[in-house]
Amino acid sequence: MSKKHYRGSCACKRITFEADIDFSKGTHKCNCTSCWKRRWWTVKVEPADFKVLTGEDGFDPSGRFCATCGVATFRHVPVFDWNPTPYVSLSVATLDDLAPTELLEAEVTYYDGLADDWWSKPAEVRHL
Ligand SMILES: [Zn+2]
Ligand SMILES: [Zn+2]
Repeated sequence: MSKKHYRGSCACKRITFEADIDFSKGTHKCNCTSCWKRRWWTVKVEPADFKVLTGEDGFDPSGRFCATCGVATFRHVPVFDWNPTPYVSLSVATLDDLAPTELLEAEVTYYDGLADDWWSKPAEVRHL
């Protein structure tokens, strides 16, 4: 498969963006408290393939949520010791033109953040 163009937004449409995404590379879910409480299901996007269209000033002070509707849309992940290349972690639920079948065909990688064992799959993932 290859990259496809998508448009995304928060629930109130204050924050809108576009991205070229290759879903054949899979999506990501983690069971840590933060991801679980947000229902954070993400896909990685290359920074060059991501563009905020509106609402750059629409984030709450933490920079993680729309200040109006509270939806978490995306987050820039910089270089860390565990991450050699910066990327955009984008919530798949914010993509307005993603067909559910496209999402379900993508492989999901799971992280056991709850046990602080990030590179292992948790024993139970069906709830994520
Ligand atoms: Zn919003
Ligand atoms: Zn997590």
